Amino acid sequence: MSDDHQGSCLCGAVRFRTRGALRGVVYCHCSQCRKQSGHFYAATNVADTDIAIEGAESITWYEASGFARRGFCKACGSVLFWKAMDQDYISVLAGSFDKPTALKGECHIFVGDKGDYYSIDDGLPQFEKSTPSIPVAE
Ligand SMILES: [Zn+2]
Ligand SMILES: [Zn+2]
Repeated sequence: MSDDHQGSCLCGAVRFRTRGALRGVVYCHCSQCRKQSGHFYAATNVADTDIAIEGAESITWYEASGFARRGFCKACGSVLFWKAMDQDYISVLAGSFDKPTALKGECHIFVGDKGDYYSIDDGLPQFEKSTPSIPVAE
C-alpha cells in the first residue's frame, strides 16, 4: 500500500496530495489554535517537497505570529495548514485528509492554554507548552 494521501477543504477549491509517511498527529491547545479552529488543532506534518497543493489561489494566509502563518480556504473557511516561515515543512490539519488516513495521535501541546470545557484523557503525552521538536506559536 502506498503512503501517499490526499485531502481537501470542505468546498473542494483547495486540494492537496502528500507523499511518504506522515508524522503522528499533534494536538495543539494554544489560544491561537483554539480561536482559529473553534476547538483545538490536530495536525500532522510533511516536508515542503512532499506536498503538492492545487487551488493555492483560494488559500488565505493569516500571520497570527511573527514566525508562522495559518492557511485556510477563503471560500469555505476550512483550516488547512500551519507554516513556520523558516522551516522546510508544513503542518496539515488531520481532518482535511480523505480517509483512510492511517494517522495516529502523538501528543498534546500547550495544554496549559486548553479550553476549560473539555478534558484530555486519551493517555497520550501532554506538554504544558511545546516540545523542542515542535515549533508552534506561543
Ligand atoms: Zn474550500
Ligand atoms: Zn497552537
